Amino acid sequence: MIDTHCHIAGDEFVADLDAIVARAQAAGVDRAVCILASDDHVEMARMPTVRAAWPGVRFAAGIHPHASGKYAGRAAESAAITAAALTTVGDAVALGEIGLDYHYDFAPKPVQQDVLAAQVALAVERDLPVVIHTREAMADTIAVLTSAGQGRVRGIIHCFTGSADEARMALALGFYISFAGILTFPRAGDLREAAAIVPLDRLLVETDAPFLAPVPHRGKRNEPAWVTETLAILASVKGLSVEAMAHAVTENAVRIF
Ligand SMILES: [Zn+2]
Ligand SMILES: [Zn+2]
Repeated sequence: MIDTHCHIAGDEFVADLDAIVARAQAAGVDRAVCILASDDHVEMARMPTVRAAWPGVRFAAGIHPHASGKYAGRAAESAAITAAALTTVGDAVALGEIGLDYHYDFAPKPVQQDVLAAQVALAVERDLPVVIHTREAMADTIAVLTSAGQGRVRGIIHCFTGSADEARMALALGFYISFAGILTFPRAGDLREAAAIVPLDRLLVETDAPFLAPVPHRGKRNEPAWVTETLAILASVKGLSVEAMAHAVTENAVRIF
């Protein structure tokens, strides 16, 4: 099993990273994609430690929409910073997370769009998939992916929280859809309905640790081992055994990364 999106190079995991990796492996989660903020020097500097602690980990780097305000009028610089981060990683499997977040709206929308477009163009140039964060911004996200992606962009909508119609928009662009712990929340019926329409060969699961711990760990610091909780709910939504679902999402992860 693979946790396709976690932030285990973050401050929250410094104290007990080895224990977290051990619990993941004991749960059958032998691989993970660790998301790095390419303009966060402290997080970038922890990459070798994370790599040494977990041989099954791979990395992605990008500038999150929350951080994009710093690059107003300097979107090209944001792409240059991410390019440098990808060089530092060496064998990055994706560019991200990048995207648009109109819920928190920490940066003006046009700035978020410019920074996203510059990084999408870089991903196309490097032939890397993108890991997309989109919140209350699906139509604009699809518009930027279409224009900056030049018909060649591929990737994942991570921690999908949209409607079935929004899932269809992302699927039409060839994207994979990744579900996080929210899928397990009792009141997430609409999200489970959206998951039900996603073809089996486009589904992924992730923790987004340390955020959004699934039921029954809700409210705690999330960790990669708990991706199995989201997997179990996704399996029931699709009417499959947990084993069959694990096989499908693992194959999908291998294909996209
Ligand atoms: Zn995100
Ligand atoms: Zn994330």
